[in-house]
Amino acid sequence: MIDSPKTHLNLWLNPNNNPYSQPPKNFSITYIDIKKAEDRLSRFAPLLELLFPELRMNQGIIESELLHISTPPQLPISTDLWVKADHALPIAGSIKARGGIHEVLEFAEKLALEQGIITTNSTYTDLSLPEAKQLFSQYTIAVGSTGNLGLSIGVSAAALGFNAVVHMSKEAKPWKKAHLRQHGVTVIEHEGDYGLAVQSGREQAKTDPYSYFIDDERSTSLFCGYAVAAFRLQKQLLEKNIHISAEQPLFVYIPCGVGGAPAGVAYGLKLIFKENVHCFFIEPKQSACFSLQLQHLETPGISIYDVGQSNQTEADGLAVPVASELAITAMKNHLAGVVTIDDQHLFANLYALHTHNGLKVEPSAAAALAGPVALFNTSAGEQYISELNEHHFQAAIHLVWTTGGLFVPEDEFNNFLLRGETAYQELYQKR
Ligand SMILES: *Cc1c(COP(=O)(O)O)cnc(C)c1O
Repeated sequence: MIDSPKTHLNLWLNPNNNPYSQPPKNFSITYIDIKKAEDRLSRFAPLLELLFPELRMNQGIIESELLHISTPPQLPISTDLWVKADHALPIAGSIKARGGIHEVLEFAEKLALEQGIITTNSTYTDLSLPEAKQLFSQYTIAVGSTGNLGLSIGVSAAALGFNAVVHMSKEAKPWKKAHLRQHGVTVIEHEGDYGLAVQSGREQAKTDPYSYFIDDERSTSLFCGYAVAAFRLQKQLLEKNIHISAEQPLFVYIPCGVGGAPAGVAYGLKLIFKENVHCFFIEPKQSACFSLQLQHLETPGISIYDVGQSNQTEADGLAVPVASELAITAMKNHLAGVVTIDDQHLFANLYALHTHNGLKVEPSAAAALAGPVALFNTSAGEQYISELNEHHFQAAIHLVWTTGGLFVPEDEFNNFLLRGETAYQELYQKR
């Protein structure tokens, strides 16, 4: 067991998880909605390829690789792992690429169709013509973000010709603000936390009919964009001749902030693989809003501050005080459990993924590796495994979703590595 009084790694099993439950009744997002989002991303692929040359290799589709890695030797896990490498997703450098860009495109498509600039049969490369840019330049697309959602929405909205405004919380890294400004995005800095940044962005946008606010806590368009990842993963698994079934279940571990991105992905996976996929989220111990809300379903909107968590963590993408209601509704009967960790684990994982597997992930993304570590090394994990068929579990595919990292500046990453090496030695070698 790697639990010790000095460090924190905990697995909470969701008592409301029901592998056989149907999609929630009061939840409107269907398989067809996600399919529509996937089709929209395909329609826009030629335009995206034109705007972002880095997408040429993949014909305008924003997708990451599915990698097979060996487990870092010191880690107390005795299994091979798969990595869904969203840390290398182009344009946004994180899992936010699919959701954020999808919503920007949906808004652009609606405007352009209404104004007759395109029809549904058009080649969408027409949207790079001056007529379209002129239309888009009349509108502002705004978002509140701890960083990565801002990168995804800001950069794509500005590339299409919109005024892009990103409201950032104080946890946001200076380099993310600089990156946005370089891409022509207006950054508004807020003293308060993520929740306050979203709130003030939402209110500012309300007063302006030419302003469209992308709402991380409520948006179904974002959610559908995130969920497209599930279809893409299904194809990638089949390409590798992996057939998820009762005999070979899928275990997925995804870092969680407000919950939209991981819930979108997990919900999509549940629609496809049903009881044969087991989804776990990972949160910082001081920003564990999703597990807190699942433990207090009778208190909607409960905040981590109400229970004395500080929101202090180096995982800036996960530093969120209140979970998304949409994400909670989607996952409350479908999530297997939540792993909470301290920053020492984040950094140790970041170091391990880089040193042994050559992956450059940010601290928020490194959280994912704590998923299998917790499943295999806590008593709650033991209990979860004991309820499964032993042979099926031995054949299981374990997938760690590395959610961001591509654009972390070199010097910043080197500091992460130094801190990670110390953490790694303290956690895994001095025993
Ligand atoms: C945003 C983000 C997450 C979590 O997504 P939420 O929708 O906030 O739960 C995880 N990892 C990274 C790197 C992120 O940027």
